[in-house]
Amino acid sequence: MALLERTDALDEIREKVEAGERLDLEDGLTLMESDDVLALGELADRARRLRGGGEEVFFVQNLYLNQTNVCRVKCKFCAFAVTQKQADAYTYSGEQLVEDAVHQHELTAFTEIHMVGGETPHVSFDYYVDIVRQLHEALPDVHLKLFTASEIHHMTKLSGLTHEEVLRTLRDAGLGSLPGGGAEIFADRVRRLIAPGKEHPDYWFHTHDAAHRLGIPTHCTMLYGHVENYEERIDHLLRLREQQDRTGGFLAFIPLAFHPENTVFERRGWRHTTGVDDLKLIAVSRLMLDNIPNIKAYWIMMGMPMAQVALHFGANDVQGTVVREQIFHAAGARTATEQKIPELVRFVREAGRVPVQRDTLYNQLRRW
Ligand code: SF4
Repeated sequence: MALLERTDALDEIREKVEAGERLDLEDGLTLMESDDVLALGELADRARRLRGGGEEVFFVQNLYLNQTNVCRVKCKFCAFAVTQKQADAYTYSGEQLVEDAVHQHELTAFTEIHMVGGETPHVSFDYYVDIVRQLHEALPDVHLKLFTASEIHHMTKLSGLTHEEVLRTLRDAGLGSLPGGGAEIFADRVRRLIAPGKEHPDYWFHTHDAAHRLGIPTHCTMLYGHVENYEERIDHLLRLREQQDRTGGFLAFIPLAFHPENTVFERRGWRHTTGVDDLKLIAVSRLMLDNIPNIKAYWIMMGMPMAQVALHFGANDVQGTVVREQIFHAAGARTATEQKIPELVRFVREAGRVPVQRDTLYNQLRRW
């Protein structure tokens, strides 16, 4: 009987999807509470195709850099940040970042640098402007996807400038887009528990809103699988959808599964998310975010085999070659820190889809 009720509820949502109707909070909760995971996957894939998705699965060739691991915020889920006094603290100069990036570019010809870091109070805003300018001058054809909204907010504190002024200055120095980090879960209850030192979510939205209005595209994320409940997950997705309605500048949504190793949550016995939860989250994201074109199955945190399955649950992007990821690996990710293009192509093809190398803005560079 219970199974029949759940099936009926999914049928109602299916009718809305087929009719192109928007799903609401109640629909999102029904989806999250469903344990018919294969039906969710099929429905999400149907939604993706109805909204114009084809056989293509995108990836980008990119390099991950972290300019500093020094951070004042102390989020409880973070295994990456250190204080300035710790032996493994680093803050790279523009010269060091350029030397590293140019060397890596000779090896892999990446088209994007993805760089984020801690909120160090030991630099000035000029430091950020200089590293952007130096990277852009050294590699003018490489797209610079740099700094979370939290880091942009930090720069307003360092400089006394507004979010708009910080973004405009960075854009003029060579910034191309923003990654989506710092979103975590927007609900106040969760924020207080996992990241009490982080700025209010309103600033996250204000930064992305300002970026979109300045013509700087951005990405958005959700860190799930810790203390949040289903309602807080759906609330998070709905807030992103509202922002996208207003400004339309999100290129992609990336769900990020919480990794507990080396955090306080590990000592409390927390474990990694399960495969079913990861797949459900991909499917529900695709269904709820009807105005964000790309949903990423981030293989760094899911592993490639699960990311491959996620391509049938609404995902259409596997992120990229991701040379040298460090943040999730500090928190116990057991995946490789890099995937070579032939491997990505093999995974996508064996999932029955067409691999397409893209640039950051989703222009197609090569199809297989
Ligand atoms: S998640 Fe970011 S802001 Fe929070 S402690 Fe880690 S580096 Fe700092």
